[in-house]
Amino acid sequence: MALIVQKFGGSSVANADKVRNVARIVGDTYKAGNDVVVVVSAQGDTTDDLIAKAGEISAKPSKREMDMLLTSGEQISVALLAMALGELGYPAVSLLGWQAGFQTDSKYGAARIKSVETARLQMEVARRNIVVVAGFQGICKYDDMTTLGRGGSDTSAVAIAAALRADRCQIFTDVEGVFTADPRKVKSAYKLDEISYDEMLELATLGAQVLNNRSVEMAKKYNVELEVLSSYTNKPGTIVKEDTALEKMLVRGVTKDSDCARISVTEVPDVPGEAFKIFSKLASKRINVDIILQSVGRAGTKDISFTVSRANAAEAAQLLVGVDGIKPENIVIDTTVAKVSVVGAGMETHPGTASKMFEALYNQGINIQMIATSEIKISVLINESEADRAVQAVHSAFFAE
Ligand code: ADP
Ligand code: ASP
Ligand code: MG
Repeated sequence: MALIVQKFGGSSVANADKVRNVARIVGDTYKAGNDVVVVVSAQGDTTDDLIAKAGEISAKPSKREMDMLLTSGEQISVALLAMALGELGYPAVSLLGWQAGFQTDSKYGAARIKSVETARLQMEVARRNIVVVAGFQGICKYDDMTTLGRGGSDTSAVAIAAALRADRCQIFTDVEGVFTADPRKVKSAYKLDEISYDEMLELATLGAQVLNNRSVEMAKKYNVELEVLSSYTNKPGTIVKEDTALEKMLVRGVTKDSDCARISVTEVPDVPGEAFKIFSKLASKRINVDIILQSVGRAGTKDISFTVSRANAAEAAQLLVGVDGIKPENIVIDTTVAKVSVVGAGMETHPGTASKMFEALYNQGINIQMIATSEIKISVLINESEADRAVQAVHSAFFAE
């Protein structure tokens, strides 16, 4: 007998039939003699709908009240799934994040899990209950409900698996696993049998929403092996694990992130300390900067460009006005950009990956605005309108059709 954590995303529980389908999968796992803890997300587009509802009331709602609102989505799912399990004759109990012991910090909307107090979970499991836990939420020191950031149910599942030392952690979703590119966009993408934590972390951070990046970070930290698989086809999925036993692939995946804006600052004095002044200003407001490009100084000035998430673009630009005489007309925000990346542990030891990627883009006539690399990834910033074509072309360059 094993202890198995199973997580089902929003599309997997979108309506009554889908909830019943999930109940069957969970029930079969339980019937085989396993203890099961299930984590679910809000049904379908519920979270987006709730955000829209808040928008009808307030342009800038309180973050605390947003969390109060958004946690309700998962509350619906856990109750319905526990009922569906009951209908099939299984003993099941639903728990909200706080009941399941999720203690978080008090950063509403993007809270971090501090601990999972497992007493209640363990008691319910010991009673042979199937425990259905609301993902994406916890409680902070002020006894307020918090949410973990979009896609956070994946992290809830990994946190439970780590805290209970579960034998398996399965992430069920609407595709058959982790693919070499988003299978909805690239028809020739294929499912990977395995991927390392580091590669998955890069892919998730660079736009592959199939797993939330913090869930991968946590899985690596606590050595929780993940399986990503489909709620609809009974097939083996993708195993996410430590890379020691993995065959290194030059490129494991291609991904796109449209949530970026480029900010260019021109006529910055070409003297020491300018980059420090600009980026410490942004850091003081906890604005995360991604790719940075600085031009060679000419006639005593230089240009500095960088990318931030779109939500932070206006604030970032505003913050820079006045820094060492930077004028509003020297700052340009471009929100029509996207980042396309290739990820693979093999590129560390194989030269030529970048040139192959750039050739694919050149053949499509796509202009590269910025480039960033690490040992296992190469990212380019391009025009958003060309991003899907770029992903397709780069994918074809690295993977046989
Ligand atoms: P869930 O609701 O189950 O959490 P998500 O919508 O968050 O599901 O994530 C699944 C989606 O991620 C898929 O439908 C797919 O379109 C998208 N996706 C993006 N990149 C990839 C990739 N490399 N492999 C698999 N799916 C991907
Ligand atoms: N329901 C939340 C969201 O839409 C959490 C999740 O799906 O993981 O972001
Ligand atoms: Mg998700």
